[in-house]
Amino acid sequence: METKDYRVLLYYKYVQIENPEEFAVEHKELCANLGLKGRILIASEGINGTVSGTVEQTDQYIAAMRQDERFADTVFKIDEAEGHAFKKLKVRHRPELVTLRLEDDVNPNELTGTYLEPKEFFEEIQKEDTILLDARNDYEFDLGHFRGAIRPDITNFRDLPDWVRENKDKLSGKKIITYCTGGIRCEKFSGWLLKEGFEDVAQLHGGIVTYGQNPETQGELWDGQLYVFDERIGVPVNQKEHVVVGKDYFSGEPCERYVNCANPFCNKKILCSEENEHKYLRSCSHECRTHKDNRYIVQHELSEEEVAERMQIIEDEKAVKTEA
Ligand SMILES: [Zn+2]
Repeated sequence: METKDYRVLLYYKYVQIENPEEFAVEHKELCANLGLKGRILIASEGINGTVSGTVEQTDQYIAAMRQDERFADTVFKIDEAEGHAFKKLKVRHRPELVTLRLEDDVNPNELTGTYLEPKEFFEEIQKEDTILLDARNDYEFDLGHFRGAIRPDITNFRDLPDWVRENKDKLSGKKIITYCTGGIRCEKFSGWLLKEGFEDVAQLHGGIVTYGQNPETQGELWDGQLYVFDERIGVPVNQKEHVVVGKDYFSGEPCERYVNCANPFCNKKILCSEENEHKYLRSCSHECRTHKDNRYIVQHELSEEEVAERMQIIEDEKAVKTEA
């Protein structure tokens, strides 16, 4: 296989950081000097980042992190890439690394679910009495997920505890296994599940990314693509087979292409083909299509008549469908 010149690093470490605001400024300088791009969050509870750079730049970054005893044992998940996966470098201070909107926060270093390595996870999720719970957002699930996993219909991670409380009957008395992209959300979420009274809780160690790269599992039992929070949007996981689970928002046809609704106040992520993007003005609803600030209309310089014409086509088609 051809080796690529760039890499994307995904990593986190729950560890106490004194003066996180100050540290964020220093850390940004380090990353900027190395030429990295990406998004790094820094809180008093630790660090969480995705950065891209050349092999040399990312190697230097890992070496710098190894020299800091707080981050010396951080696990870096490495993806090869054709170029940068980000346009800019953002290093931000936040009160928490992941937000669960909890009355009292969970420290994963004190309380977290049992870690399952990829091979164990592969075996456990095939057992009858286990509940496999996706700890990510609905749009991430819709692009790809583990076969048989439960999809909480949440658009924000912070809404997951409420979803669990509302769906307690599905989960009570069962062995619960959770998974997320790189593992950071599950560290806290599985701890919260234990605190909430669920007794048998486990999590995929290193997340979906590690599972896909593991030579034993090779991503088996994963369907679709993995949603990532950078310009790549979707990356492969299952090295053995590729089953498309994404569905075109308008037609229901298999689809793995995400766009954002052209109404800037909606911005909803919708899976759709190029053809349907144009047909529906890249908008999720009639209200969004006819919104005065619609970005698609601006971008394509559509006149009022042209918009009206397109709306008529959609209406006519709807009428035919209802008659049929
Ligand atoms: Zn919309």
